[in-house]
Amino acid sequence: MADSSGSRSADLVILGAGSGGYACALRAAELDLSVILIERDKVGGTCLHRGCIPTKALLHAAEVADAAREGAKVGVRSSLDGIDMDTVNSYKDGVVARLHKGLAGLIKMRKIEVVEGTGKLVASNTVEVDGTRYEATKAVVLATGSYSRSLPGLDIDGERIITSEQALRLDRVPSSVVVLGGGVIGVEFASVWKSFGADVTIIEALPRLVPVEDESASKVLERAFRKRKINFKTGVRFSGVTQDDSGVHVSLESGETLDAELLLVAVGRGPSSAGLGYEEAGVTVERGFVTTDERLHTSVPNVFAVGDLVRGLQLAHRGFAHGIFVAEEIAGLNPVPVVDSGIPRVTYCDPEVASVGLTEAQAKEQYGDDKVESFEYNLGGNGKSQILATTGFVKTIRVKEGPVVGFVAVGARMGEQIGEASLIVNWEAFPEEVAAIIHAHPTQNESLGEAHMALAGKPLHVHA
Ligand SMILES: Cc1cc2nc3c(=O)[nH]c(=O)nc-3n(C[C@H](O)[C@H](O)[C@H](O)COP(=O)(O)OP(=O)(O)OC[C@H]3O[C@@H](n4cnc5c(N)ncnc54)[C@H](O)[C@@H]3O)c2cc1C
Repeated sequence: MADSSGSRSADLVILGAGSGGYACALRAAELDLSVILIERDKVGGTCLHRGCIPTKALLHAAEVADAAREGAKVGVRSSLDGIDMDTVNSYKDGVVARLHKGLAGLIKMRKIEVVEGTGKLVASNTVEVDGTRYEATKAVVLATGSYSRSLPGLDIDGERIITSEQALRLDRVPSSVVVLGGGVIGVEFASVWKSFGADVTIIEALPRLVPVEDESASKVLERAFRKRKINFKTGVRFSGVTQDDSGVHVSLESGETLDAELLLVAVGRGPSSAGLGYEEAGVTVERGFVTTDERLHTSVPNVFAVGDLVRGLQLAHRGFAHGIFVAEEIAGLNPVPVVDSGIPRVTYCDPEVASVGLTEAQAKEQYGDDKVESFEYNLGGNGKSQILATTGFVKTIRVKEGPVVGFVAVGARMGEQIGEASLIVNWEAFPEEVAAIIHAHPTQNESLGEAHMALAGKPLHVHA
């Protein structure tokens, strides 16, 4: 809706059309609220264009490369002749383009007005884009997401020192890469490049890879990476990098220097909030993150924030959940708040790491050492995992005589198991209840059944 001054208005003005912003727009439109959605790039945001989807396409190509390389082990004569990055990239870009087209169509169908341009919050109810003011009659939703961080003094040149954005656009397989950061993004790229034939070394300052996961998962992932000859150094800090025609020379505080063609900086993502007028409009921002209460209200009435901009797990499905929550909150539906500990987490390297709820250490901290029980089921006993030649485990963590509060698994394709695990944890199921549910044989899903049967005191394929 436009008024005589040329400004436009809608019930909701949403700044940023990534997972959080567009999910909020779609749900709000469904609830008959009018929406203006402002985006400086493409609808879909990081996840669709520079994150979840393109990385998983690369990981699928990596899986196919490994299958070709290892076919002979199961009697299929095959070999890996090489990686054609042009084709890999057009496959990846094709997936993204199809999803983008679908999303744009959905947004149009729900009659959401998309404004292309960079927006700035100029009042608590107004976002300005190129001199035009967009006024919210009910609420403004901040959904500007996050960006790839670097370290002080470490300049990203986009050529030899890159972030995930440039890594996704590489037109070649690098001969060697140092990956700075052993978190989700670092281990996923390390896994892809190794499968494509690169020599990879991960540097992680904390004592283990995927340091936010249960310690047992890090151990098994590290063992699997060692087997795959993915090098890693943990508990060691980066101190500097130089480059010349031969590549990068990465020095560590231990005194060691690593030479490689590329350095991928994967040290985390910072909130995109600088210069967007948030603080000037009275919105409280701490270290760049917009502060919200559990109902995602900011310090200013009728201004909400969602997704990576809000401190917590930086995951697309958290953004979706935030967006839906805020739309329903504004519509007065009194939705149930999104709690980070109930959000499933998957790291898609080979092998995959999947978890939900508390780690064992967190459960012990919360409930007391003697009040927590866990069971780790080794995938060695799972038929389908043996067929897939994967190793790993499924671990389920319960409060004694109480519900399951945490789950973690490592192994090929274990990300696909997180749905049931998430249901178990979020529904606060008891192991005895899960043990009564029949799991199909032979599936990897059976390993969840086995773990809960064991924890319920009735193990089947387990040496008790
Ligand atoms: C390499 C990589 C892999 C990932 N893999 C996964 C995964 O497998 N699973 C998973 O769940 N998550 C994954 N993530 C994280 C996921 O992408 C983010 O959690 C998610 O995109 C956050 O959504 P958001 O809406 O908060 O922010 P974003 O998706 O970052 O969207 C913010 C949007 O706001 C726009 N914007 C910013 N400022 C302005 C402005 N001033 N004016 C107009 N528009 C603006 C941006 O252009 C962007 O489109 C990955 C991230 C990366 C980088």
